[in-house]
Formats: sequence, structure tokens, C-alpha cells
Amino acid sequence: MKISKLFEAKRPVFSLEVFPPKKNAGGIETIYETLDGLKDIKPDFISVTYGAGGNLADRSTCDICSIIKNKYNILPIAHLTCVNNTKQDIDIITQDLKSVGVSNILALRGDISPDIPPKNDFAHASDLVEYIKQKGDFTISGACYPETHPDSEDSVSDILNLKKKVDSGAEHLISQLFFNNEDFYAFREKAVLAGINVPIEAGIMPVTNKNQVLRMATMCGASIPRKMSRLLNRFENNPKALEDAGIAYAVDQIVDLIANDVDGIHLYTMNKPYIAQRIFAAIESMR
Ligand code: FAD
Repeated sequence: MKISKLFEAKRPVFSLEVFPPKKNAGGIETIYETLDGLKDIKPDFISVTYGAGGNLADRSTCDICSIIKNKYNILPIAHLTCVNNTKQDIDIITQDLKSVGVSNILALRGDISPDIPPKNDFAHASDLVEYIKQKGDFTISGACYPETHPDSEDSVSDILNLKKKVDSGAEHLISQLFFNNEDFYAFREKAVLAGINVPIEAGIMPVTNKNQVLRMATMCGASIPRKMSRLLNRFENNPKALEDAGIAYAVDQIVDLIANDVDGIHLYTMNKPYIAQRIFAAIESMR
């Protein structure tokens, strides 16, 4: 099933993101606990992140996508970054994905690390989209940034680059996390004006830890609105209250997005199924 087809049948689409568990945190086996907890939400698809280091021996994204498809009967989407991969590496990874029946890829550049010199085959995600598209075996999605990608000089050039990614073959976009829906709506309008007419899912991250969210927001250039910062400061030393407040904030964002005809909601689960369950229970009647 092509991810893009989902949007023809149903709106909003509800999807989830998981990451491969770290080896020192129980290894790949612990993903079963996460997926057992997520399956009852009945997501339209689950995406699996990819380590940006370009380590071909690490097949965890492919293995977890295979588990999602073949054990849980849920549509998987494999993230794949190109900054540290050669064309030959991409050939091997896509062949692995094809061999386990994964046909949807979220094609990404990946962050450029000062410690790992980039390989030179792909400069931008759009180059990867074009390369995978030629193979003819995959439906391709891409990332987008409501508050502009941190490497971009301005939002106009970022949107024009996004248009190139869509023209190269990305049929669906998933947004970076954001905490102010107005940023997403302004971005969506600009995308339409630029001629981007593929479905755009809103990336929502429930906040459960102050330092973690501040770190992530700095890394990806997301701003923290006053309402969020008051909540983080008020409950930082009360983990249960912060979790409840973070869930309430995410639910509030999602309700507003649904009311504003969002194409889809993509929940960054952080491999915490009970939080995703509470959020989806709160919006059950809106699906
Ligand atoms: P690009 O689309 O290449 O954009 C990066 C920058 O280059 C932008 O400033 C853009 O405007 C500019 N640009 C793009 N095309 C051109 C062009 N043709 N000419 C000039 N400039 C151009 N990282 C991981 O390592 N693993 C993951 O699994 C992962 N999953 C993600 C999932 C989502 C939904 C999102 C939003 C991000 C994810 N990331 C992941 C992070 C991502 O790799 C970084 O944000 C990275 O810095 C940019 O990736 P991109 O695919 O958006 O790059």
C-alpha cells in the first residue's frame, strides 16, 4: 500500500514514529513491548527512524519495519538518510527493504555531524528521492519544517527547496515537531502558494521531560511558546504532573489541527506507548 493512497481514502491520517532501541537498553527485543502497546491504537502506519552514522551493519530499521509489517500487520515506513551513504550503500539498504516487503521510504539528508565527513553522492534529500524513485520499487516521503530548517537562510528558500523535493518524487511530507499551530498553518499556506500539493502530516511530540525538549528544540530549531515554557517551569520537578500537562498540550494541539483540516497527525512516540495510548484515547471520537 502506498502511503500517499491513504490520504485519498481517509483524512486525517494518524501515524506513529518509533526508533530502534539502543543496544545497551535491551536491544531490538524491547521493540516488541513498544509495538505491543502501540498496535491497539490502530495507526495508519508506523515509521522507524534511521541512525545517521551510515553503519551498514546496523539493519535495525529494516528489521523493525519487517516486524511491523509481518508480525503486526501494520504498514511500515523506513526512514533513510543519505549524507553518510554512497549510492552503493543506498542500493544495499533498499534491496534489504525490498526483500522484506517494505515499499515506503522517508528519504532524508540527515544532520551533518562535525565528526563524520559526509560522503559526496547526495547533497540534499531531493537527490536521494530522485535516486530511489528511479528504482521504481518505492513510494517516497520527505521531511518539512514549519519553522524553517535551521540550515536555511530564510523560509522562502526552504520552501522552494521543499518544492524541488516534491518535484523529485516525494508524494507525502511529515513535519518537524512544533508547539505553536499557527507556525504550521502559516507554513502550510506558503507551501500551497509554492505549488506543493502533496499531503502534509503535522509532527507532534508530547513533552514529558524539560531538558529533553529544550535540547531537541534547539537541535531542530523549534521555538518554545510562552504557554509551553510556563508549563515546563511549573512542573519540571514533578514528573507525573509534567507528563499529564505534556499530554494535555499535545491533545490540545491535535484537536485544533483536526479542526483546521490537517491532512494527518504523526506522533513522535519516543517509544512510550502509554503516552500515545492516552493521547489517542482523548481524540478517539475525532478519527
Ligand atoms: P533536506 O531536504 O536536504 O534539507 C536540508 C537543508 O538543505 C534545508 O535547509 C533545505 O532548505 C536545504 N536544501 C534542500 N534541497 C536543496 C537544494 N536542492 N539546494 C540547496 N539547498 C537545499 N534524521 C536522522 O538522522 N534519522 C531519521 O530517522 C530522521 N527522521 C526525521 C523525520 C522527520 C519527520 C524529520 C522532520 C526529520 C528527521 N530527521 C532524521 C532529521 C533530518 O535528517 C534533519 O533535519 C536534516 O538536517 C535535514 O534533512 P532533510 O531530509 O529535511 O534535508
